[in-house]
Amino acid sequence: ESIINRIAAGEIIHRPASALKELIENSLDAGATSINVTVKDGGMKLLQIQDNGCGIRKVDLPILAERFTTSKLSTFSDLSRLTTYGFRGEALASISFVGHLSVITKTKAETCAWKTHYADGILVGERPGQSEEPKPCAGNDGTTLIVEDLFYNTPTRLSALRSSSEEYARILDVVTKYAVHNPKVSFSCKKAGSPSLDISTPSSSQIHNTIKLLYGHSVAKELVHAKASSISKKGEKKSDNPEAWAAEVYFTSANYQAKKMIFLLFINHRLVESPRMKRAVEGVFTPVLPKGSAPFVYLSLLIDPRSIDVNVHPTKREVHFLNEDAIIEKIADGIQETLAAQSN
Ligand code: ADP
Ligand code: MG
Repeated sequence: ESIINRIAAGEIIHRPASALKELIENSLDAGATSINVTVKDGGMKLLQIQDNGCGIRKVDLPILAERFTTSKLSTFSDLSRLTTYGFRGEALASISFVGHLSVITKTKAETCAWKTHYADGILVGERPGQSEEPKPCAGNDGTTLIVEDLFYNTPTRLSALRSSSEEYARILDVVTKYAVHNPKVSFSCKKAGSPSLDISTPSSSQIHNTIKLLYGHSVAKELVHAKASSISKKGEKKSDNPEAWAAEVYFTSANYQAKKMIFLLFINHRLVESPRMKRAVEGVFTPVLPKGSAPFVYLSLLIDPRSIDVNVHPTKREVHFLNEDAIIEKIADGIQETLAAQSN
């Protein structure tokens, strides 16, 4: 049975960067305004994420890494995120099947922090034979999740990974993209034992600043902005219409030319991939950019959770939704109009 669980977990957690994506989303769900990532050996040896979010109540710790426990946890507040995709409550469970998971957490109400360890979905002692009871320890409000020896028991996953430096590059990419999407949250990322931070963003109310810091002045100085949305009928409340959507796009004007397109796509605040969307957006730039050059595009799309294909697993990076072609077209048109206005 545990082998089946491990295989299932490997379908959700492909590599250190995909584990980190889940952990960052949990920290954001917990209302964190500061998220600090520490990595050893491309995340294979250590992947640690520390946040200042709401913490996990001691009573919830025993079931934290059980599958589908989300709604049981008393700290779970934002039900709208639950309905965003069809399946939830699997990330920590999956991680505990393919790595050593430890948690240090403290809520405001608690007088000290508590430390726990998990394996195969359940609470365990730090070493075999030791008590699985949460141990009191020092700690600030918030949560530190520690994942060690990822895929130690799943050799096929381990052998599919690239070098530590490549896995680390993917981790930096995930942190960078979430930092752009959440400019008010300060992010950092570093290698364990290193004195310097590879990523460090302050909390900023200006997304422009965050993009400048992470993607450079050449991107930031050419940045323009477009919006697109479903036209809602007069008098109709947004929440009544399952086909309502709104997109916001930041992209570089024709003056910016990179070799490869930089594309950040968030749908309902989740970093996802949509090759169709990417192709359509890239196509808008083809007539205005010299051959062989590409833009920077950051796109945030909010759609009614009911219109997302619930048969697509949440951790599948590719997402499909209702009226996909029409929405993509309208977003592309919005970008095109802004680009055209620029060149006049
Ligand atoms: P899901 O996010 O889908 O609920 P997860 O397995 O990712 O499932 O997390 C399970 C639960 O653990 C979350 O619903 C949340 O209540 C709690 N949790 C996980 N990470 C954190 C965190 N950093 N801060 C506070 N609570 C957390
Ligand atoms: Mg989660």
